[in-house]
Amino acid sequence: MQLQLSTWPEIEAHLAKSRAILIPIGSTEQHGPNGLLGTDALCPEIIARRAGDAAGILVAPTFNVGQAQHHMAFAGTITLRPSTMIAAMMDWAQSLRRHGFEKLYWLNGHGGNIATITAAFSEIYHGVSFAGAGHNQPPLRCSLRNWWELPGVMDVCRQLFPVGEGSHATPSEVSVTWFGYPEAARQVAMSPRIAPNGPILDAEDFRRRYPDGRMGSDPSQASAAAGEKIVSAAVKALIAEFNQFAAD
Ligand SMILES: [Zn+2]
Repeated sequence: MQLQLSTWPEIEAHLAKSRAILIPIGSTEQHGPNGLLGTDALCPEIIARRAGDAAGILVAPTFNVGQAQHHMAFAGTITLRPSTMIAAMMDWAQSLRRHGFEKLYWLNGHGGNIATITAAFSEIYHGVSFAGAGHNQPPLRCSLRNWWELPGVMDVCRQLFPVGEGSHATPSEVSVTWFGYPEAARQVAMSPRIAPNGPILDAEDFRRRYPDGRMGSDPSQASAAAGEKIVSAAVKALIAEFNQFAAD
């Protein structure tokens, strides 16, 4: 069930049964020569929507621009400052809380978002706590899960890609997007086959160290069939974890 494809009476009726919502959160940033700019937003979105359809979980619109400063030397990347992202997440949370949502499960697709999401949760909790005793607003709980850390998912990725998984523009994440959007699959020559790895600093330095945008990966191995296996494991784990969070 998607919030954007629902009417307000349907959401009001859903709130009578469940106060929990699943929010995909990611980034719009370069993903190497064959990966889509939307990869880090599309992966949690693809997984969340399938879990939503299978288990009646309400899925919010995707928070699809995040912390991508270090990818800004590549065309198409869009980034938020940490302070902007925290402010936007707070407004999303307060809007949902206003309607009665009490459990926000954020499914993240971008490692670079983690520190800012954690800081945003702290800001959100400050707002709730500063409201003081005796107020009549509902409580609010946030949970963060990176999709690749859902139980069992990395085991599937390691089986599929024992070599060249790397850390950015990975064959696993590219496969997930190609499963969601088969028409996006493309063959692109890459050299060296496995990209260099190292630190992440500013945007210019990133492009110098990783000229085609990949870090330690060989995404030429990606396939929609591999993506289907990864998504299937992720959806199963996500439903179990979301339901536990919603019931806790
Ligand atoms: Zn990524």
